[in-house]
Amino acid sequence: MKALGETILYSSYTILDGEEPYTISVPFLCQRCGECCKFGYPSKVISTDILEYLGLRNNEEDWLKCFEKYVGIFKDGKLSIYKPCGFYRNGECMIHPVKPDECRYYPLLTDLGVERDAATGEPKCPGYIRHNMFIEELVRKRHRKWYGSPYLYPDDGLNLSCSPTKLQWDEVLRSIMYLNTSSKELELFSLLNDRPVLLVSAHA
Ligand code: SF4
Ligand code: SF4
Repeated sequence: MKALGETILYSSYTILDGEEPYTISVPFLCQRCGECCKFGYPSKVISTDILEYLGLRNNEEDWLKCFEKYVGIFKDGKLSIYKPCGFYRNGECMIHPVKPDECRYYPLLTDLGVERDAATGEPKCPGYIRHNMFIEELVRKRHRKWYGSPYLYPDDGLNLSCSPTKLQWDEVLRSIMYLNTSSKELELFSLLNDRPVLLVSAHA
C-alpha cells in the first residue's frame, strides 16, 4: 500500500544544445482542485486495498456493496470508477492512500492523456497547465534541441546522468522565478534535480 504523498510526477528533459548537455526534471504539482474526480474517463484499475481501507472484506458481497454505494458496476463485468467519482467527498478523495494508479498518475502517466475542454482544447487540469508553463519557459523557449518524457519519483529513480552544472542550475532557477514559483514548487525542483535552491534574482 502506498503512503500518502509518496509519488511525485515529473517530466525530465535532456537539453542537447549549449556547451554541456544537461537533464532537468520538471515537477507536476497537483492543485487538489478535484476536477479530475468529476469528469473524464473511468479509472479501471481497482485494488483490494480499497476494501481493506473502507473496512470491508475481500469477497463478492462486499465488493458489490462498495461499488454500488460509491461507484457503480462496469457493464462488461469489470469493476471501475466512473466520473463523477463516488469516492470524492467534501472536496477530497476519501480513499486517497489507496486510490487507483490511474488517479495517482493522472495526468502525465495515463494511457489516455489529459482531459481537454471540447470547445477550446485547453487541458482541464490546472496542475498540467502550470507544469506546461515550466516546460515552456525552461525547455521550449530556450533550446532548439531537447528530449523529454514523463517520469515518477521515487519509483523510476532520478535521471541525473547529465545533472546541471552550478551555472546551468542558476539559469534554471532564474527561468522558473519568472513564473512566480511557489516555495513548494521550488522544493520539488530542488528535490528532483538534487540541487539546492539558492536565492537568485530573476533579472540577474
Ligand atoms: S485536475 Fe489536476 S490539479 Fe486538479 S485534482 Fe486533478 S490532477 Fe490535481
Ligand atoms: S478514486 Fe479518488 S482520486 Fe480517483 S477519481 Fe475517485 S475521488 Fe478522485
